[in-house]
Amino acid sequence: KGERLRLPPWLKTEIPIGKNYNKLKKTLRDLNLHTVCEEARCPNIGECWGGGEYATATATIMLMGDTCTRGCRFCSVKTSKNPSPLDPMEPYNTSKAIADWGLDYVVLTSVDRDDICDGGAEHFAKTVSLLKERNPKIIVECLTPDFQGDMKAVEIVALSGLDVYAHNVETVQELQRHVRDPRANFDQSLRVLKHAKNVQPHIISKTSLMLGLGETDDQVYSTMTALREAGVDCLTLGQYMQPTKRHLKVEEYITPEKFKYWENVGNELGFLYTASGPLVRSSYKAEHIHGLR
Ligand code: SF4
Ligand code: SF4
Repeated sequence: KGERLRLPPWLKTEIPIGKNYNKLKKTLRDLNLHTVCEEARCPNIGECWGGGEYATATATIMLMGDTCTRGCRFCSVKTSKNPSPLDPMEPYNTSKAIADWGLDYVVLTSVDRDDICDGGAEHFAKTVSLLKERNPKIIVECLTPDFQGDMKAVEIVALSGLDVYAHNVETVQELQRHVRDPRANFDQSLRVLKHAKNVQPHIISKTSLMLGLGETDDQVYSTMTALREAGVDCLTLGQYMQPTKRHLKVEEYITPEKFKYWENVGNELGFLYTASGPLVRSSYKAEHIHGLR
């Protein structure tokens, strides 16, 4: 009891480096972009940034600063009631930098900014429309907060010209209170995903679940069913990893075979695309969605 589980062999992987990786890494510094890929030391960085022969290069960019107004028990982002005000130039500077960086697919995400009246929805939308103006070919995914259930805010982002609307439910219904900030909940997140798709039916909606937090198989299955019934198009499932000792412990390392099993379940339930594996992250191999369009 109280002991940490040992890391299983399938998580001790070498990071493969693709040919674009070094180029992207070099230009990133000059552009003043903050990527989740680097800051979370994501194990997929070589693959996502590298692109590989037929794949596209993907990165996840953080907007609206590095300090969140919430404190989820799985997340290592800093928390404060009053983070710094938004930089009004950020949509312009970031969209320019992303266009110059040479990505094919970009994920724009942010901390939760419950201190701002629209939660930063306009800020997201401005960044998307400026980016699409500069580079109409780039595929844009926004991974948004729940905007405290403010459907007007969801609409602003959904109508911004993006291709993929992502919002993560993070864990099964039964563990929401245990894992996420108390201001978040499953139903509110589901409403966000539904509403985005209702106001802009041609976008793809997407969500993610972390496994290994103590959920049962039945709970995973019924959560997946609820997501599909709500019309969510794409689902990713990955292993929860404890970022520091102060965060929730890993209850279980799910085997690659079990992840494969959930991928098959996702396909049977009719998701357009289910990505499921120990190292799968919300934005992992996002270009597969590109292929669906
Ligand atoms: Fe970045 Fe997401 Fe790829 Fe990780 S999975 S490297 S965070 S785009
Ligand atoms: Fe982390 Fe997002 Fe939770 Fe903020 S709302 S603590 S960024 S997971």
